[in-house]
Amino acid sequence: MKSLEGKVTVITGGNSGIGKATAKLFASEGAQVIITGRRQDVLDRAAEEIGSGAIGVCGDVASYDFHQKLAADVRQWFGGIDVYVANAGIINLETSDTVTEAEYDKHFAVNTRGVFFGVQAIAPLIRNGGNIIVTSSLAATKVLPQHTVYAGSKAALAAFARNWAIEFKDRRIRVNILTPGPVQTEILGKLGVSDADLPGFEAHMASLIPAGRMGRPEELAEAALFLAAKGTFVNGVELMVDGGMSLA
Ligand code: NAP
Repeated sequence: MKSLEGKVTVITGGNSGIGKATAKLFASEGAQVIITGRRQDVLDRAAEEIGSGAIGVCGDVASYDFHQKLAADVRQWFGGIDVYVANAGIINLETSDTVTEAEYDKHFAVNTRGVFFGVQAIAPLIRNGGNIIVTSSLAATKVLPQHTVYAGSKAALAAFARNWAIEFKDRRIRVNILTPGPVQTEILGKLGVSDADLPGFEAHMASLIPAGRMGRPEELAEAALFLAAKGTFVNGVELMVDGGMSLA
C-alpha cells in the first residue's frame, strides 16, 4: 500500500520548487493534494503536472482571510485533512542598513504570520494522528550574509512548531520543522541578485556545502515524505536537509 493512500494533504507554495516536488511525491504516494500559490496560471500548470486530481487554490498566505476561506473550502470538499505543509516563503537579500519597513513587514507577513494563521485556520481540520510540517531555513540558525530579516522571519517557526507539538498532543498531531539549506529552485531568481551575479552566487553557496553542491527540490520532498508518513514517532524535531552546510 502507498504510504499516503487516502490521505488529504495541503501544501502552501505548492506550485513551485520544494512545494511542487513535495506535492508530486505525495500524490505518487496516493495522497489527495491541494496546493496553493498566488499565480493562477502557474497553479493550473502545476496541478496538471502533479496529476492525481491535484487541486490548486489561489491566494496570498499573508492574508488572514485566505486561510479562513481555504479551511472552509477544504472542509466542504473533504471533511478534514491529514497533512498540512506550511511551505510558502519569500526572501530578498539585503543588509540591515537598507531594509525598508515595507520589506521587513512583507517577510514577516508571508514567512511568519502566514504560517501562524495558516496553522490556526487548518488545525481544527487535521484528523487525529495527522501532522504538520513547517518549512524553515538553515538561515534561521546559521549566519549568512544579507539574510538578517529573512533569518528572523524564519527563526520564529521552530518556536511555533515546538509549542504546537504540545498544544495538539491530545489529538496525536505531530509537528515537525523541515529545514533546507540552499536548494536549486525558482527562489534563486527572486533573491535580488542580478542575473549576471547569480552563477557566482550559486557557485559560492555550493562551495560552502560539504556535499559540494546545492540540494534538489526532490531531496527535500523525500524528507517531507519521511516526516509526513514514515516518521510516526518523530515529533517536534528540526530536520536539517542541507548537505551538511550547518556543520561547515
Ligand atoms: P520557490 O520555488 O520560489 O517557491 C515559493 C513558493 O511560495 C511558490 O509556490 C510561491 O508561489 C509561494 N509564495 C510566495 N509568497 C507567497 C504568498 N505571499 N502567498 C502564497 N504563496 C506564496 O521557492 P522554494 O525554494 O521552493 O521555497 C519553498 C520554501 O523553502 C520557502 O519557505 C523558502 O523560504 C524555503 N527555503 C528555500 C531554500 C532554497 O534554497 N530554495 C532554502 C531554505 C529555505 P507564488 O509565487 O505563486 O505565490
